[in-house]
Amino acid sequence: MYAQFGPAGNPDAFYEAGNKASVQMPAWLGEMMLTAYEYQCSRGVNIKEETAREIGRRSAEHGVKLSIHAPYFISLATEDEQIITNTQNHFLKSLEVALWMGADRIVFHMGGPGKQERGAAMERVKRSFGNVLEQVEKRGLTGIFLCPETMGKQNQLGSLAEVMELCTMSEWVRPAVDFGHLHAVTGGKFVTKQEIETVFDAVAEKLGAEVAKNLHIHFSRIEFTKGGEKRHWTFADNFGPPHEPLVELCALRGFTPRIICESAGTQANDAKVMQDLYFSLKQAHDASATM
Ligand SMILES: [Zn+2]
Repeated sequence: MYAQFGPAGNPDAFYEAGNKASVQMPAWLGEMMLTAYEYQCSRGVNIKEETAREIGRRSAEHGVKLSIHAPYFISLATEDEQIITNTQNHFLKSLEVALWMGADRIVFHMGGPGKQERGAAMERVKRSFGNVLEQVEKRGLTGIFLCPETMGKQNQLGSLAEVMELCTMSEWVRPAVDFGHLHAVTGGKFVTKQEIETVFDAVAEKLGAEVAKNLHIHFSRIEFTKGGEKRHWTFADNFGPPHEPLVELCALRGFTPRIICESAGTQANDAKVMQDLYFSLKQAHDASATM
């Protein structure tokens, strides 16, 4: 079992090569030898069943593992009845698409606290998310992991602790750790192997070693201000965090996460950069282990 690497959404190079639709992505990723793809429903779940099933069929054929990014409109701490209903629907529709595609995880943002104090907002998040989990159970939609993401701005819910708190609510909830976001929200931390390792160790302690070993990860270089995340950049740009410590740590400790690269436009090429480094380190490490 190895770590998997792939892009979030469709990169510029995919379109520059003359491709037009996401259904062409699995074959394109197969050619690049990438093994993961996060399909973006971030602006709403609009995909047709037929298309979703075709993406799923082709992904299986090319050995690409699928996840889905749920709509940004999800807001679990809201007090607005209409938004609560919409939030439930975003989850249920994302799950339906995941079933069609054969995606095994859905990544989502919890939303902001609004005017509530953070602790009170989290209580509301847990109530609201508990209702989502109940619906999931009732409709027989378990089997797909729901993954709350660590967020990059101070005014968003989704610190690592808050994410892990949600993950204790069901075996079907697992963390999505965005290291670019952690870097941005902490004003530049998570640049060394030691700092990154604390995340894996915290997850292992709270949720178990297996969850830590198979984390869902987002990675990109991110520019930040005092409020946190400002903008995603590429590996060619002069922003942090560096990708090498994360990849080295995974190769060294035998972690096999799925790492989704969220670079701006170059997300597949940058995923490939991480993958190449991972396998070269893995080879060197395994060779020295058998000597
Ligand atoms: Zn996200």
